[in-house]
Amino acid sequence: MLGTGIMGAGMAGSLLRAGCDVRAWNRTASKAEPLTAEGATVPESAAAAVEGADFVVTMLFDADAVLAVIGEAAHAFGPETIWIQSSTIGLEGTKRCADLAAERGLTMLDAPVLGTKAPAEQGKLVALVSGDSAAIDRAQPVFDAIAARAVRAGDELGRASALKLACNAWVASINAATAQSIALARGLGLEPQLFLDAIGGGPTDSAYAQAKGQQMISGQFPTSFAVDGVIKDLELISAAAVLAGVSDQVLSALLGRYRQASDAGHGGSDMSAVYAGFAAPES
Ligand code: NAP
Repeated sequence: MLGTGIMGAGMAGSLLRAGCDVRAWNRTASKAEPLTAEGATVPESAAAAVEGADFVVTMLFDADAVLAVIGEAAHAFGPETIWIQSSTIGLEGTKRCADLAAERGLTMLDAPVLGTKAPAEQGKLVALVSGDSAAIDRAQPVFDAIAARAVRAGDELGRASALKLACNAWVASINAATAQSIALARGLGLEPQLFLDAIGGGPTDSAYAQAKGQQMISGQFPTSFAVDGVIKDLELISAAAVLAGVSDQVLSALLGRYRQASDAGHGGSDMSAVYAGFAAPES
């Protein structure tokens, strides 16, 4: 496991519970060390983590981080090692990784995930997977350990990342839409809980709106996915929309709200802190 941030640490724990032998590496080693209590070993370098591994999972912030880390570790891959690239890196980032894999003779799968901190810790993510189908079959035990299900998006690298962008456009939108309605309710002098109660159980409700909405109302934003991560993803999604000839106007508006929240000091807070981007007056 290369990268033991919020998601990578949870995924490493799921692999350990499934009985896998896990070597966990993180740029900041102190974030990997707690995994030793669960049975992981923490090598000093990414290359040492990769040496002799059947599978290498990258769960790093962005494409530059993935390319830098794999660039350093590629020489340690064996002929049978499968690289499962799970970070959200968009279309161009995935192409750059596929090019690196081709150049260095690595077998790569494009395998971003849906779900956040708790599903990562519980092994209940949804893995979106594309690439060589025989390699996907071989990697199935990894997906079984980290995910409730795997969705195959095609044989071509990049198809799963395309699906991930469509899914994250949805997630960033409903989170911001929840913030907008809670800010609006509060701004209009209502108890904001009334909004969540009004949609509760109806066709427009979601567990997500209720969970994120509660954080917005309480002003507590414990990080499952950081605002700055959403900004990174919205930039990837906007680039893909332009490529696809799809309007990016709503995406631009969303970016503005998440950036405002980040500028207000919430870059590392949970994405529910986009609420700060709507500048709701306190009731
Ligand atoms: P995170 O907690 O911020 O972890 C980011 C990881 O990337 C850390 O291990 C960090 O190392 C590493 N990193 C950043 N820049 C690096 C560099 N230049 N070289 C080496 N390592 C570097 O983020 P996360 O939430 O786990 O997200 C990881 C990936 O999963 C992202 O692509 C994100 O979009 C995606 N994702 C997140 C969620 C979610 O809900 N959180 C859900 C699905 C997908 P340090 O610890 O040393 O900083």
